[in-house]
Amino acid sequence: MAASAVVGALACQVDSYLRNFETTVVSCRQIKTAPPSKASKKSKLPTTPSDDTQECFEVELKDTILFPEGGGQPSDHGVIATPDAEFPVLAIRRALLTALHQVPKHIEPNTLVKLEVDWKRRFDHMQQHSGQHLISAILDQMEVPTLAWSLGEKVSYVELPRKLTDEEVLEVEDRCNDVIRQGIDIWVEVPDKDLVNKNKLPDDYDAERGILRVVHIGNLDANPCCGTHLKNTREMGSITLLHQLPIRGLNSRLHFMIGDRVREYARESNNLTRALNSRLSCQTEEIELKISRLESQLRDSLKREKLWMADVVKAEAARVNEELKLVKKSYVYRGDIVGLDYFNSLVVEMGKLEPNSGVVILASGAGKNGGALLVIGDGADKVASKIRDDCIIKALKGGGKGAKWQGKITQWEKGEVESLEAFFDRLEV
Ligand SMILES: [Zn+2]
Repeated sequence: MAASAVVGALACQVDSYLRNFETTVVSCRQIKTAPPSKASKKSKLPTTPSDDTQECFEVELKDTILFPEGGGQPSDHGVIATPDAEFPVLAIRRALLTALHQVPKHIEPNTLVKLEVDWKRRFDHMQQHSGQHLISAILDQMEVPTLAWSLGEKVSYVELPRKLTDEEVLEVEDRCNDVIRQGIDIWVEVPDKDLVNKNKLPDDYDAERGILRVVHIGNLDANPCCGTHLKNTREMGSITLLHQLPIRGLNSRLHFMIGDRVREYARESNNLTRALNSRLSCQTEEIELKISRLESQLRDSLKREKLWMADVVKAEAARVNEELKLVKKSYVYRGDIVGLDYFNSLVVEMGKLEPNSGVVILASGAGKNGGALLVIGDGADKVASKIRDDCIIKALKGGGKGAKWQGKITQWEKGEVESLEAFFDRLEV
C-alpha cells in the first residue's frame, strides 16, 4: 500500500472544487534543481527556479488538492502552510503514482500542513480542459479526430488531421456554445479497468495499481482523463474558435479560448481597435480602407524616391568625376542615409575608375545611428588606414585592399564629420 493517495484518486481529482485542504507530510527530499516541467515549458507557464544554486525540495503529502501536470493540463500553483511558515508551490509533478510538490525549504515528515490552490489559475485550466473535451467530442461527431492538444498560457489548440473549412469552424463553435447553454452535467466515472481504453495513458502510469477515470459530458462524450473538470458545461461560459495553423504536413492546429479568457480577449481586442481608431483617426469600419490607402501612398512615395534618387546619383556622380579630373580627389558626405546602397549606386554611375584618377571618400550617417565609410581610387586602403590611425572616426571598423576600402561606423561622435572634412581638405594626392 502506498503511504499517500495515488495520482488518479487525489483529492483534487475526487473533488476538483476543493480550494483549501489539510493533510500531513509523508516525505521530503532535496533535489539538485527543479526538474524542467515539459508542459510548463511548452506553455511558458512559470516553473520552479532554474538557478541551480537555489535549494529545492520535493514533498510527498498524504493527499493533495494541488494537481500535478497531466493529460495536457499544466500543474497547479498554490501554497503549503506549516504551523510556522508558508511556501509557494509553483510545480507539482507526477512520479509514477505519486504527486511531488516542489518547495524552497525542507518540511519535516508528519508535519500537519494546510494547502491552498491558486483557484483563478485552476478554474481557468478546468474551463480550458473541459472545453477541449467538448470541442473534441463535437469534432468526433464530424469524423475529425483530435490527435493532440495543448493548454497554452493565453490560447490553446487541438491538433487535427486536416484543416477545417471556415464553415466547419463556425459549425463547431455554434454546436459547442449550444451544448454550453444546455447546461449538461460533466462527471467522472471510475469503471472496471478492463473497460477503459488504456492507449491514452502515459507509458509510466501503473494501470494495475492506479485509478483509471473516464470523464463524461452527458451522453455526448466519455473520455479517459486524469484532469480536473467542471461540473456542468454552463461553467464554460462560451467557446471561441480562433485561427488555424498548418503543422506536420496536412495537420492543422485549431486554436481556441474558453470562459474568462474570451472576455479578456474581447477586452484586449477592443483596446487594440480603439488604439487604431485613434492612430488612424477613423471609425472601426474604415480601418481596413485607411490602411489600404496608407499602403498605396507608401508604394507611390517609394517609387518617387527611387526616381529622385536616380537623378541625385547622376548629378553627384558627374560632380565627383569633374572634381577627380580637376584635383584628383573628391568627398561625399550624406548625413540623411546610413548604409552603403546610395554609394554603391553612385560608384556604378561614376563608371570605371582608372588608375591614377585620384581618390574618393564617401561617408554616410550621423550621431548614434552610425553610418558607413567607403574609400575608392588610388591608395584607398592607405587613406582609410590614415583616417583610422589619426582617430578621425573612433568607432570605425572595416577592411579592404588597394583601390577599395569599406567600413562601418557604429556611431559618429561630435565633431567627427568636420574632422573628416578637414582631413579631406589636407589630403595630398
Ligand atoms: Zn482530458
